[in-house]
Amino acid sequence: MALIVQKYGGSSLADGEKLNSVARRVARARADGYQVVVVVSAMGNTTDDLIKLAYQVNDHPSDRELDVLLSTGEMVSSTLLAMALGNLGCQAVSLSGAQAGIRTDAGYRRARILSVDPRRVLAELDKGKIVIVAGFQGIATDKDITTLGRGGSDTTAVALAASLQAENCQIYTDVAGVYTADPRVVPEALQLKRIGYEEMQELSSQGAKVIHSRAVELAELYNMPVIVASSDGDSPGTLISKEEAVMEVTNRVRGIAREAKVVKITAVGVPDQPGIAATIFEPLVKANISVDTIVQNTSIEGVTDLSFTVEQEDEAQAISIVEPVAMGIGAKRCISEAHLAKISIVGTGMQNTPGFAAKMFRTLSEQGINIRMITTSEIRITCIVSENRVDDATRALHKAFALDRGEP
Ligand code: ADP
Ligand code: ASP
Ligand code: MG
Repeated sequence: MALIVQKYGGSSLADGEKLNSVARRVARARADGYQVVVVVSAMGNTTDDLIKLAYQVNDHPSDRELDVLLSTGEMVSSTLLAMALGNLGCQAVSLSGAQAGIRTDAGYRRARILSVDPRRVLAELDKGKIVIVAGFQGIATDKDITTLGRGGSDTTAVALAASLQAENCQIYTDVAGVYTADPRVVPEALQLKRIGYEEMQELSSQGAKVIHSRAVELAELYNMPVIVASSDGDSPGTLISKEEAVMEVTNRVRGIAREAKVVKITAVGVPDQPGIAATIFEPLVKANISVDTIVQNTSIEGVTDLSFTVEQEDEAQAISIVEPVAMGIGAKRCISEAHLAKISIVGTGMQNTPGFAAKMFRTLSEQGINIRMITTSEIRITCIVSENRVDDATRALHKAFALDRGEP
């Protein structure tokens, strides 16, 4: 019997009625002859609400306790979905991440899955049950509960699909698939029928939260086809898979990603010597803070400025780590600048093709949008701009690169 993994996001499980509707979809897949493993997120805004509660009782809640607290959100939805399926006459069992064999490292709040032990899930499937797994969580080697970072239920789903050698992994959400840009920001955005792992990975790591970027990374590693579709209705959605070699590479931008709440931190006047960057960034890595765009100015008279960006929620911790280290190696001061955002254009067709960067910069300048920092990969160009202009930037670039005109 073929096996599929389905994942339902928080907005698709927001209340009892929606849980019942998801239960009916799952029951239908079972009736169609599939073995079904379902991964669920927490209901509606549960995760945000739990974070707020934690900060009401402690200004600096411990990461360990936060992870235990946040993991309860997915426990609630998994048990309720199992009950809803029971009500439809289906045999279902809910499992926590730990029970489902999701083993992670000890990086609380952003743990990475190290391995999946599928024995319990397989045993339940063998008994004819539908298995409902609480997403976004796992267990570290020291037996503590961990969470996988915001949006991490997608990653649970792909990891399970790979481990169980599922036919595919279906991510059900509140939009019809992956679009050329966030359809809530760009109403003209068009849904893509398919997209390769590489392009999707760049889009999601730069803010397209329709799928967790680590989920795309795992899907590529195990060559697992992922379908992103609406939990409401039967539209085919978007297939994320290995891109076929195309003879004529379509020379165009495939999508635009935006991410708000970016903070730029600059160590001013650091001595330009070997090892300085390592000294500054190593403690951030140890604290599990992800550092993004990094720019080092040309040095003048032996000193330079080193800037990098972090997510706003990491600002205070990043500064408390970087400031003493930077001052210790002779920096003049550390400054941070909030209310920034990232805007990225992505497309494999941009490789080795001149003109994309110039067109992006020209488009932003015509909007009067100042570019603060620039970074690139082979298939992506990212600009840091001010947060209050990032949506204008997204719409202008979407038009400039003709993404509203459909695929050639
Ligand atoms: P879920 O709760 O189902 O995991 P998310 O809120 O995490 O859902 O992700 C879905 C949201 O991602 C959409 O509502 C949409 O606003 C946003 N999004 C951002 N970029 C894109 C994109 N390129 N295509 C589709 N949706 C996108
Ligand atoms: N509930 C978690 C979050 O809100 C995980 C997820 O939705 O994937 O980030
Ligand atoms: Mg999500």
